[in-house]
Amino acid sequence: NSDLILYVNMELVNEKSYRRYIVEEILGQGTFGQVAKCRDVETDNYVAVKVIKNQPAFYQQSLTEVSLLSTLNRTFDPHDEHHIVRMLDFFACKNHLCISFEMLGQNLYELLRQNGLRGLQMKLVRSFSKQILDALIVTKGAGIIHCDLKPENILVTQNAKTDTEVKVIDFGSACMEGKTIYSYIQSRYYRSPEVILGYPYTTAIDMWSFGCIVAEMYIGIPLFLGASEYDVLRRMIEIVGVQPPDDLLREAKNTKKFFKHVGSIYPGNEGHDSIGSPYRMLTEEEVEARESQKPKVGRWYFPRRRLDSLISGYPWKNLEEGNLPETEKADCLALVDFLRGLIEFDPNK
Ligand code: ATP
Ligand code: MG
Ligand code: MG
Repeated sequence: NSDLILYVNMELVNEKSYRRYIVEEILGQGTFGQVAKCRDVETDNYVAVKVIKNQPAFYQQSLTEVSLLSTLNRTFDPHDEHHIVRMLDFFACKNHLCISFEMLGQNLYELLRQNGLRGLQMKLVRSFSKQILDALIVTKGAGIIHCDLKPENILVTQNAKTDTEVKVIDFGSACMEGKTIYSYIQSRYYRSPEVILGYPYTTAIDMWSFGCIVAEMYIGIPLFLGASEYDVLRRMIEIVGVQPPDDLLREAKNTKKFFKHVGSIYPGNEGHDSIGSPYRMLTEEEVEARESQKPKVGRWYFPRRRLDSLISGYPWKNLEEGNLPETEKADCLALVDFLRGLIEFDPNK
């Protein structure tokens, strides 16, 4: 990576950028810092400036955001055709690394919330999905894993043709495939099974998060809503209908946190464990019993609640009950089929 950073520094450092932006309002806040709407005094255009927290770790990690995004923009999407945010400049100001981006609109989570969390029209789900997928194909082609795909990191904007466009932002947690350093990545609802289970990960983890986002766009709330990784994994198994493949469970580092090794065959499965697997997911009681033995460090102890009531309105439920009008039924079936390809436990598939 250091070669890449050097390359970026030499090509992009712009001394004139100092004091070039006037802050007008705060657009958003994240783990890494704040994003401000600013006026570029030279061009009189609005830009979004991400002001990174002035701590060395954030500074370093954000240089990776700069280098990976500039490579993506210039080498893999030179004509801005693939729905990836454009980085305009970067500079340091009072020990804060600052990155300026093209100004985009609200994020997908805000849009869903505005819509009363009831989901978007199929037409928009289809159009947004296609655009995000386009961005992911390019990202994967560059050997880059985004590592933090979620509705907050998808921004909506109006393009010249007045079509609603979406763009993928926030490469602040991204890394190169094959150079994965961190194990605690992705936001919980969008976290892939291999990351939860502690198995070597690839660009396939972005495809998992993408599946979660597609479902959420349609149903309005996260598909794998859960107050802990255990809850999220449990929901995954419920929805997919089988548990992760045995090979993955055998090799993953965290399997013991969630599963019990029950020998070669587990006969009394409860409908969600695949028959014949040597692994059985721990029951909630077993997890609780185990947790009550551990010192209760605030950060790791999550109150667990039943979320079933929230999911009773899922479209597939309506689908089963035949409640949908004929036109939307075909679309829903196609959507579920598409989702089955994305929400797949085996990363190789
Ligand atoms: P995270 O906690 O997801 O890691 P972060 O600290 O890396 O967040 P960003 O995701 O880059 O920060 O930005 C935070 C928020 O600021 C976004 O969710 C979005 O609402 C807003 N924002 C970011 N970039 C832009 C932009 N180019 N135009 C408009 N709003 C933006
Ligand atoms: Mg973000
Ligand atoms: Mg980020």
